[in-house]
Amino acid sequence: MADFLSPAERSARMARIRSNDTAPEVTLRRALHRLGLRYVLHKKGLPGKPDLVFPKHRTVVFVHGCFWHRHEGCKVASTPKSNTQFWTDKFDRNVARDAQVQDALLAQGWHVFVVWECDLQSKTRANLRAETLAADIRREPDIEKVRSKDFRFRQAHRRASVQKQKGRRHARRIPTSASANIK
Ligand SMILES: [Zn+2]
Repeated sequence: MADFLSPAERSARMARIRSNDTAPEVTLRRALHRLGLRYVLHKKGLPGKPDLVFPKHRTVVFVHGCFWHRHEGCKVASTPKSNTQFWTDKFDRNVARDAQVQDALLAQGWHVFVVWECDLQSKTRANLRAETLAADIRREPDIEKVRSKDFRFRQAHRRASVQKQKGRRHARRIPTSASANIK
């Protein structure tokens, strides 16, 4: 079968596949699954394409490489001695992008957790990390349980703000004497 991808595209795709399915990440996933948490992988349409998505808990998890994403205080997050400016700029961009992605997700009501790759270096460490992560995820409210209450609250809130806006719009257009009819 013909290869439709240019060598550059091919290698980009291979790099993606590798980074998505690294052994440490797979260990983490298996442990989380064992702990009863159900996730979706690389769900489309979310800012930053989180590695793991837990829809029930409205939670996303990123598994970050310590070098590229600059794990603070981690020895893996060193800066190369040559072309230092180039690397510093690159790292700054990565960190800024991560912050933007997190803000966008938080604004959409997602809980965001980051797992650093150095915490997954051995199976033992990965299992420990999975346990603390599972506890953190479970601490976030189960969305099915809060949905009905939360939904009613949001509906009421929306109605109130729509009324307020309507009031403002009418107030601008209609002379004061007529605005008495507006509910
Ligand atoms: Zn690290």
